[in-house]
This record gives sequence, structure tokens and C-alpha cells, in this order.
Amino acid sequence: MKILDGKSLADQIKTEIKADVADIIKNGGKQPHLAAILVGNDGASETYVGSKVKTCGDIGFGSTLIRFDDSVSESELIDKINEINSDPKIDGLIVQSPLPKHISFEKITETIFPGKDVDGFHPINSGRLMQGKPAFIAATPKGIVTLLDRYEIETAGKNCVVIGRSNIVGMPMSILMARNESPGNATVTICHSKTTNLKQHCLEADIIIAALGKPGFLKGDYVKQGAVVVDVGITRLADSSKKSGFRLQGDVDFESVAPKCSWITPVPGGVGPMTIVGLLQNTLLAAKGDIRF
Ligand code: NAP
Repeated sequence: MKILDGKSLADQIKTEIKADVADIIKNGGKQPHLAAILVGNDGASETYVGSKVKTCGDIGFGSTLIRFDDSVSESELIDKINEINSDPKIDGLIVQSPLPKHISFEKITETIFPGKDVDGFHPINSGRLMQGKPAFIAATPKGIVTLLDRYEIETAGKNCVVIGRSNIVGMPMSILMARNESPGNATVTICHSKTTNLKQHCLEADIIIAALGKPGFLKGDYVKQGAVVVDVGITRLADSSKKSGFRLQGDVDFESVAPKCSWITPVPGGVGPMTIVGLLQNTLLAAKGDIRF
């Protein structure tokens, strides 16, 4: 069993992006700039946004963090997004989820100009992805594809099971694995909460991508010998032995699954750091104007 080390690959790619940015600026180009909107004080959201903003600074991107109280109205948020949409300094915008219940995530996503939608959640970007056209690809699936690519994991002709069909992970992941490109060209089975014979599907899979948000769900007896397993799950479980008071648990029961695998991602240090890389790559593409709308 070998580890798909997302943390060290992410560090390597960040160094590459940093060099690219330095070149752009040396040649009189524009410094890429990411804006992030954070609503409320959710601990996990604070951590994710904080880490995205910090990484921007590390690699030479500009960044702007805009905070709102939980009580912000949907229309105030929409006004701010429209302001950012027309701000030439800002290339990419993300709105951290979850949002308070009185705000529609769908409406907010659709307000972001598709050319600044570096999370890749706008229907124009997901539609373009489905049709194989240039698009901002959702950061987590994009990061996973980059991970498989850099580790030269063969996907063509393989049976791939994706567990989860959300718009931000499972569905775009399935499309990427099935597309006529490399990585891709896999035969993809999408499993979800209504799938009746999930274990059987998993046992036939050469590649399993678990993105369901149920800690430790995938056990060793679901996995065939030699499979590649990618664990997307990140659930915070209370753990008094940790300074933070919690530990991160993936959707895969690493202990029983890892001995069966040819390759596996750890949690933490697998998909999480690659998600940030996906976001940075999208922001760089946006700054370069490589994807036209
Ligand atoms: P989500 O929107 O809740 O979607 C979960 C999906 O899993 C749904 O499609 C659901 O099926 C399916 N599902 C739930 N229980 C199932 C079961 N018992 N068997 C089979 N399928 C089941 O979650 P998400 O946003 O896609 O995120 C999934 C996980 O990835 C979460 O742990 C999240 O925190 C993590 N995540 C990690 C990163 C990262 O950077 N590492 C980024 C994003 C998300 P239905 O459609 O039938 O409800």
C-alpha cells in the first residue's frame, strides 16, 4: 500500500504557482487576486477561509476577506457580490458554505459572475464541465484529478465508484472520471443514499472515491485487493486528547481499508490540501483570462 500524499504534492504545486506568479508580475502582468466572503463564526469555515487567505499570501496572490454577521440579509450579500463582480482588481470570488438558513446558496452561487466563479459551482461552469468545454472545475474534484494525474494512477478502462452525488463533489467528480480525457475514461458508477447494493459495486471497483460525509463508512470488506481509494470526507469528531478538541475523520476506515489498497489518501493530508490547490489554479486561470465567458 502506498500513500497518495496530497500534502507534499500540494506544497510542490504551490511552489510552481508561486514561480508562475513571480514571472507574471516581472513581465508587467496582473497579480492574481482572490476574494472570500465569510458569513458568521462557524469554526470550520473560519479555518478553511483562513487557510485559503494565508496560502494566497504565501504564493504571491492578493486576497480580500469580507466578513458578515449571521444576520446579513440575502440582498446585502447579493449587492456585495455584484460589487466584486465589477471590481477589476478581483479575479476570483468564493463564498464559504454553509450559509445561514435564510440565505439561498443557489441564489448566491448564481449571482457570482461565471468568470470569477473559482469554486466552479455556477451552473454555467458545471454545464460547461459536463459538455467538456473550458470551465472552472469545482476545487475538490479538480484537486483529486490533479492528485491522480501527478501520481500517474491509470484511470482509463477502470471501474470507478463515486460515493456521493453532490453538486460540489460527487457529481463533478463522476463527470471528470468518465470524460474522454486523462485522467478520465473510467467506467463510472455513482452511488448515493438510495443505492441498494453499494457493497457489491465497491467490491467491483478499481478506484473508489468516497464523498458521503459519514465518518469511517467504507470498511475493508467493501474493497477489493489492489484498489485505489480516495477519501474526500472530513468530519470533525470530538477528541479531548487534541489541543483543538477535535480530530478529522474521513469517510474511509483507514485501518481496515489501507491493507487492501495499492494507493490510498490519508485524512488529513490527502484531498484537503489538494482542494486548496484546485482553488489556486482556478484563480490563476481567472487572472490570466484563460477561460472566456
Ligand atoms: P453532501 O452534499 O452531504 O452529499 C453527500 C452525498 O453522499 C449525497 O449524495 C448522499 O446521497 C450521499 N450519501 C449519504 N449517505 C450515504 C450512504 N449511507 N450511502 C451512500 N451514499 C450516501 O456532502 P458533500 O458536500 O458532497 O461532502 C461530502 C464529504 O466531503 C463531507 O464529509 C465533506 O465535509 C467533505 N468535503 C471535503 C472537502 C475537502 O476538501 N477534503 C471538500 C468538500 C467536501 P443523496 O444524494 O441520496 O442524499
